[in-house]
Amino acid sequence: MAEVSLKNISKSFGDTKVLHDVSVDIADGEFVVIVGPSGCGKSTLLRIVAGLEETSDGEIFIGDDKVNDVAPKNRSIAMVFQNYALYPHMNIYDNMAFGLKMKKEPKDKIKKRVMHAAGILGIEDYLHRKPKELSGGQRQRVAVGRAIVRDPAVFLFDEPLSNLDAKLRVQMRNEIKKLHQSLKSTMMYVTHDQVEAMTMGDRIVVMKDGYLMQSDAPLDIYKKPVNRFVASFIGSPSMNFLHAKVVIDGNLSLVGENFTLTYPKGDYSNLKSYDGEQVILGVRPEHLSLNRAGKGLEVKLEISELMGSETYLHSVLGDVDLVARVDASEVLTPGTMIHLHPEFEKLHFFDTETELRIN
Ligand code: ADP
Ligand code: MG
Repeated sequence: MAEVSLKNISKSFGDTKVLHDVSVDIADGEFVVIVGPSGCGKSTLLRIVAGLEETSDGEIFIGDDKVNDVAPKNRSIAMVFQNYALYPHMNIYDNMAFGLKMKKEPKDKIKKRVMHAAGILGIEDYLHRKPKELSGGQRQRVAVGRAIVRDPAVFLFDEPLSNLDAKLRVQMRNEIKKLHQSLKSTMMYVTHDQVEAMTMGDRIVVMKDGYLMQSDAPLDIYKKPVNRFVASFIGSPSMNFLHAKVVIDGNLSLVGENFTLTYPKGDYSNLKSYDGEQVILGVRPEHLSLNRAGKGLEVKLEISELMGSETYLHSVLGDVDLVARVDASEVLTPGTMIHLHPEFEKLHFFDTETELRIN
């Protein structure tokens, strides 16, 4: 096991800079999820840790060792890829044993390690099969098993579940979490799926366009996103955004094009310097409640989306789309006007210029 430390990593391919001064410290035994839209540099960052890609600038430490110039096979890492990367002509046992065979480990030791990993993942029964004789989920287990067999200090996962169907993805998500709990190894896990990030990570690192946006515990990111991008990327359905002017005259009023929200006397010190100015208002769908007394935002309901346990109300306020998550028992007619009320404590505020959180 080992900590991983990335210090001021930059990477360019030709003239295109794809990573900008990214620094991340990962504690020994921590499970860190790196999340961001496709093309933001997640795989490049992981490949740099693995040694499959060189940095243009910055330092990589695994444990106490700077590994910039250490070959991938000597970095004590194991990587699991989206496409499994199994050798098609070898059976499962040999696929899992391959790394240790290359290292000329003794046969009985290899067998012990392969059987141990196969046991953890429940794949003992098809060790003699070829990869093409397995389902996608089974192949992914083999790919994970091959990583376990190598007993690395650090596991690297690059979107390992993207090729699986939704149900299997949820199951494998939990299996990988359990694996982390039992092995207690350091793990870096890349995904574009914010649900995976929220459910799996001890910590989430959010990236955009090659920049690190925020690195925090999942709930801290959810409750206090540092900017509008993180706020909209994390959470499903996404946070709603509205432009409003702040007016503090004892009460607080947020005045938008088609609404005024008024909150009674309270501590609005965080908004004081924005008195009379425009801000971006953020409110999560679960923080908009249906108000029969006519309080809050008056919106036109377009679609009621029944989810079973709850209902998503898709509505419009002027030309802004708003989604509210309400109790499944709420039955409403599309086309009618309804009121959605956000509690002040649940609102997020962002600067209109910088889009940074106003604290
Ligand atoms: P992600 O994994 O977040 O989808 P990547 O790390 O794969 O993103 O890619 C980040 C950016 O770097 C993309 O714009 C991609 O096109 C570019 N890129 C990745 N690998 C190469 C390469 N070998 N040569 C040139 N550009 C690359
Ligand atoms: Mg990628």
